[in-house]
Amino acid sequence: MTNNPEQTAETSNSNPWGNPRVRIAFLNMAIFAAAALVAASHPDVLRVDATNLPIGMALVAGFALSEKLIFHVEARSEAVSYTPTELALAVGLVFLNPGELIVARLLGATVGMVVWRRQPLFKFAFNLANFALETALAVGIVWLIGGGAVLTAWLGMFTGLALAMTIGGILVTAAVAQFEGEFVRRATEQIANMSIFFVPPAAVGAAIAVPMTVDPWLGVPAAVSAPVLWYIVRSHGTLLHRYSDLADVHDFSRIVGDAGNLNQLAESAVERLAAASRAEQVAVRLWIGGESIEASAGFETGAMAVLPAKGDDRWASTLASREIVRLDEQQSAQLGVTPHLDQPLVAPLRDDRGLLGVVVIADRGGALSTFSDDDVDRIQAMIQQLAVAVRKAQFNAQIQYEATHDRLTGLANRAFFEAWLGEAIRDGHRGAVLLLDLDRFKQVNDAFGHHAGDELLEAIGERIADACTDADLGARFGGDEYAIFLDGLNGRTAIRFAEELGRALAEPITAGPAEIVTTASIGIAVAVDTLADPTELLRRADLAMYAAKRDTTSSVVLYDTELETDDSTRILLLADLRAAIAHDTLQVYFQPQIDIASGRVAGAEALVRWIHPEHGFVNPEEFVELAEQAGLINDLTRSVLRQAATAAHTWHSRGWEIDLSVNISAISLQDELLEPLVVDVLEETGLDANRLCLEITETTMMGDPVRTHRILHRIESHGVRFSVDDFGTGHSSLVNLRNLPVGELKVDRSFVGRMLDEHHDDVIVRSTIDLGHNLGLKVVAEGVESAEILTRLQQLGCDIAQGYHISRPVPPDEFAAFVADHDGSRNQWETPELVEDWVESPESTADTTID
Ligand code: C2E
Ligand code: CA
Ligand code: CA
Repeated sequence: MTNNPEQTAETSNSNPWGNPRVRIAFLNMAIFAAAALVAASHPDVLRVDATNLPIGMALVAGFALSEKLIFHVEARSEAVSYTPTELALAVGLVFLNPGELIVARLLGATVGMVVWRRQPLFKFAFNLANFALETALAVGIVWLIGGGAVLTAWLGMFTGLALAMTIGGILVTAAVAQFEGEFVRRATEQIANMSIFFVPPAAVGAAIAVPMTVDPWLGVPAAVSAPVLWYIVRSHGTLLHRYSDLADVHDFSRIVGDAGNLNQLAESAVERLAAASRAEQVAVRLWIGGESIEASAGFETGAMAVLPAKGDDRWASTLASREIVRLDEQQSAQLGVTPHLDQPLVAPLRDDRGLLGVVVIADRGGALSTFSDDDVDRIQAMIQQLAVAVRKAQFNAQIQYEATHDRLTGLANRAFFEAWLGEAIRDGHRGAVLLLDLDRFKQVNDAFGHHAGDELLEAIGERIADACTDADLGARFGGDEYAIFLDGLNGRTAIRFAEELGRALAEPITAGPAEIVTTASIGIAVAVDTLADPTELLRRADLAMYAAKRDTTSSVVLYDTELETDDSTRILLLADLRAAIAHDTLQVYFQPQIDIASGRVAGAEALVRWIHPEHGFVNPEEFVELAEQAGLINDLTRSVLRQAATAAHTWHSRGWEIDLSVNISAISLQDELLEPLVVDVLEETGLDANRLCLEITETTMMGDPVRTHRILHRIESHGVRFSVDDFGTGHSSLVNLRNLPVGELKVDRSFVGRMLDEHHDDVIVRSTIDLGHNLGLKVVAEGVESAEILTRLQQLGCDIAQGYHISRPVPPDEFAAFVADHDGSRNQWETPELVEDWVESPESTADTTID
């Protein structure tokens, strides 16, 4: 009887003593030395009797054969191999001299192991040493306590066999422990298991052999009954084996089922498979989504090396199998397995829904050189369990993934980002939190549709992921808001990162039918030891981001305590603005526009005014933007348009031919609701559509030309005209202008204001006037602050002038008074003297506004 080192898992490291094989080699030498010492202490060790040759030969054959008649029992965690060795040993103890027996034992074992077991050399050497020591010990013990009466002879024989086997067993345990550790536990268990492992075979062996010392013929009944006994022991062992197999499979599904994630699952699966199948090499590859997860157990990497890639055609037929495939030599060669593995098993991992992966198992350890059918059945059962577990884990992983990631971009979602950030900070990480909000994303979405919007968000997500290192984390918070944690960055380096990212994001992105250039506003907050609260960090980054949105000079803002006051007023302001719009308490002022040639008041620009009960005058640019961001802009436009149209209607009823200009937000020009809004107000107030001019900015036309065209043309179809406001500050092309129903250009006040000082600005104003006239457009100069400017504009042939020099924006009644003041008759407006009046007497301007 023998048991063998069974190995799984654990790899060697560079320190030779760390390699279990090296340690076993030393153990091996020690055992050989001990065997030699024990044998040499026997006085008759070198005695040879020629007459013993036949029986010696028979025993060589017997020992060889017992390597074949091996079967394994797994008791508790140990694998034990039963062989009829004890019987042969017992007979040898009776008839052969010590030296002869040792030689016969080693010779027989060698033949048997070479012919049937083809073990790796180190195992073979270890087994030989162990057999030598066992045999020498048995001989020695029998010599010491055996002989004499039958009972003492039997006792000696029994003790010799049992003790020798036990010591051999413990040595094997020592070898196993080199790979798997826990020597003490295993050895204790080994001794406890002696009753199953060693006592019965030793007792039987002794019982058969001892009578032969009296008369060799007494061996005959023993020889006859031995196979029967052998059969009983064997089938008992097989039963035990079956039982332990079931336990194995059960154990397997439990352990594998406990694995927290797919990586752990793969790891524990290969380890358990290796242990339970006695395989020295096991490797698994799982195909999960686009990823593959691998794990291997064993000292060799052969199984790992042959694992097929997903979709490898050569493997298709093998992997199509529902059962374990034993590769034959030809298949092995074809699949490139041959130089790595001998007679491997390939187990496709599949369930009803398809292939999940593959397991390669090779190098049957223990007593057998190939996997038995029993082994394969058992492995198959475990593979099925594994497939179930993998599917379950995959499903869990997917749920987990979906719960923590943004579906569109694959970035983390807000919940995960916050949790992750909290953990990173608790773990002592410091760095910067960036919050990033795309500018004008809603316009893209409205203009090109959600699909294009999604494409844009995805592309931005990719660029953010590219910019992150492994220690960073990118997330999408929903909408067009993203967040990034930058590990180890401080304020200065984070700003640099953000600026670079801003540039990367601004590379054109193809979304739907358009090439879109996206800009983003980025707010930064830095985690330092005194502030490491994720919620607070995000709040600060958010504040900084809103500041970046408002700031027209920089799209990146680092948090500063000053922002705190900014933001709280902003929030309060928004609530008040909402109320002001709802209660129609916004006011509309009018700024006259004069016809330069005639001097008459030709038009009025409506400008919204908000006098806040506490803060007083609020800058319209500020609250208009607030309204845009808060989705209140249509309500604001409606309120302004209604008041302005009502006023204009009264002027017209007095016979004043004054056109009304109203500003329209860029956002509204992407809004299908603008047309019905305008039509509504025209109907409600009775204003003549031909008197209404809507001022749009150049940026309006850069969003989505197609959509803007459609909306503008629809509104135009009612007779309403359009004017391009702030002309020169954007980048609108002539083509754009020509295709749009635009009747007027307004030269931006920044050029007009400086035109006398800066030649450059004068050139711009002059060429804009020429350009407008060439296109058949009326040209308005805004920001006319002096008589000199007006004179210059008159020289350049500009059509209309508007500015503080003529009048500040004023409330409706003042506007009416202003017109009346300069009235008399309609003809008077048309006299050129009046223009001279404007030009020569700047002091005469009404200066009654509060701004
Ligand atoms: P804008 O459309 O360019 O309006 C002209 C602005 O120039 C007005 O500022 C006006 O007060 C100012 N202005 C007029 N003459 C002069 C001058 O001689 N010199 C200088 N420096 N400025 C002059 P305001 O009223 O503060 O409006 C600022 C901006 O707010 C407007 O620029 C417009 O973009 C927006 N806005 C005003 N009212 C509305 C509105 O009802 N709806 C929308 N959507 N936007 C509005
Ligand atoms: Ca305007
Ligand atoms: Ca303007």
